[in-house]
Amino acid sequence: MSRLDTAAPLAPLPITTLVSTDLIGVTRGRSFPSDELPHYVTAGCGWVPANSALTPQDIIASANPWGAYGDLRLVPDLSSRVTISNGPDAQAPVLDFIHCDIRETDGRPWGACPRTLLHDEVERYRTELGLQVFAAFEHEFNLNTTPSQPDRLAFSLQAQRQQAGFAGWLLSALRAGGVEPEMFLPEYGKHQYEITCRPTLGVAAADRAVNVREISREIARQMGLGLSFAPKTAENAVCNGVHLHLSLQDLSGDPVLHDAASSNGLSSLGQHWAAGVLHYLPALCALTAPTPLSYERLQPHHWSASYACLGQRNREAALRICPTVSLGGKPVANQYNLEFRAMDATASPHLAMAALLVAGRLGIEQRLALNAVTDEIPDELNEEQRRARGIIALPTTLTQALDCLRHSGALLEALPAPLVETYFALKAQELALTQALSPAERCEHYARIY
Ligand code: GLU
Ligand code: MG
Repeated sequence: MSRLDTAAPLAPLPITTLVSTDLIGVTRGRSFPSDELPHYVTAGCGWVPANSALTPQDIIASANPWGAYGDLRLVPDLSSRVTISNGPDAQAPVLDFIHCDIRETDGRPWGACPRTLLHDEVERYRTELGLQVFAAFEHEFNLNTTPSQPDRLAFSLQAQRQQAGFAGWLLSALRAGGVEPEMFLPEYGKHQYEITCRPTLGVAAADRAVNVREISREIARQMGLGLSFAPKTAENAVCNGVHLHLSLQDLSGDPVLHDAASSNGLSSLGQHWAAGVLHYLPALCALTAPTPLSYERLQPHHWSASYACLGQRNREAALRICPTVSLGGKPVANQYNLEFRAMDATASPHLAMAALLVAGRLGIEQRLALNAVTDEIPDELNEEQRRARGIIALPTTLTQALDCLRHSGALLEALPAPLVETYFALKAQELALTQALSPAERCEHYARIY
């Protein structure tokens, strides 16, 4: 008998991917047959240091610290595995990936890994402050329909129905992926939607943000829809934000941000935390609103953020005390959370959340006093009024934001040097590579990437 007669027909092997979401929020990795996972559990798979210096333009920043040298490992965190067995395209292979920490080949943490940075900061909250961090990221995005599908009205049932198939698959896949989806809603913009999920503890919250992005892209691709999380997808489009909701609990699980006796409900710990975030906000923007396009969104009257202030129920405030609801009887302290709005999906969720936590921690450690609290629209105050309230303007360009980060003292010092060096190198190159783009081209360019 020839070999041909006995050979079994081939079938595609299910594959598993070890992934790292990098400094520019792009998820990258390497795949192998799923049944070989046991080989990769302890030592992970290979990775290259200079990958971390990739710009969104897919060019490795020339000034990065490693060049052609060095080797790393992507070491999986098995608790973060996401497996989605099927979707709207019956032929689509299983989506199976595991978030990783980047380590040296001897297992030491690698200094430019954003997930390690977030892990370490969350650990610091636990051990030094006795606090647990809960967070959830809300994502807005554009879902492009075929030209024959008309624009539907903002927030309408018709807009919802136009993408009901997508919504059903997305919610199903997110649930299967352990993301605990909450709401899918049509937004204000044309073909703009939003997806929210439940808060979770520490690093898993940033992993969840990545899962929301990657699973949404997967479902859209399987359905032949164009999807973009870019902060602005066309010159006249309503902007897409990422809002990070955050609350703190003590180690026995009691919420600590709320104090019913304080005027805005914020406990004294919460006030210091918020003061830290507001103090470092111009510098934080370099990490949370990290592309030239991000500054088209951080403008007055966009319901995003253009000044460093805290507002109660005020959507023009960069940091917002979210509404609590007395209907239903859930204790206020358990609902109480702060929403950081100066963020978009061109940011690495791990890096952005870590930096925000550092800023809040510095506020607590330095016992910074909270000012810049307002329920007025900061742009409608005059310069004098803003000064009197301690409200400062946010950077209006990425270049300004990077300068603020460079001069942010304790915030910059809290970030690992190799990460910072790589980040400045790649952002400088990104600015150079995009400077000739017109505003319309810039939207198109980033809409394709994110
Ligand atoms: N689209 C707005 C943004 O860019 C947010 C609107 C809202 O409050 O949901 O952040
Ligand atoms: Mg929204």
